[in-house]
Amino acid sequence: MTGFSFIHAGLSSSDSQRASGGGAKQTSISELQNRLDRTVLACEAMWTIMRDKLKMSDEELVQRIHDIDLSDGKLDGKVRKTAVSCPSCGRTIPRKFPKCMYCGQLIVHDPFV
Ligand SMILES: [Zn+2]
Repeated sequence: MTGFSFIHAGLSSSDSQRASGGGAKQTSISELQNRLDRTVLACEAMWTIMRDKLKMSDEELVQRIHDIDLSDGKLDGKVRKTAVSCPSCGRTIPRKFPKCMYCGQLIVHDPFV
């Protein structure tokens, strides 16, 4: 399995069958499907450019996906961080806070989660 088919594996045919409901909901799901398809396409384009230019391997991508997946404590194909550690005092604070409620340190949140 290539790194990219690993990403594609998350979208099964049963997902698209479930999406065939009716009315406005179907249109909305169809639009989301189209946006997801374009995102996956752009993601594959970016990955293949990086892989070729930086001489990386699909295995490195799969390992990184695994590591990021585990970074929230659960290997579940998602990353959902609800709390961060303050870089100044080390205390745990909710992600929604722009600065540490204990020491006032401004927090630069990870833009991908
Ligand atoms: Zn702090």
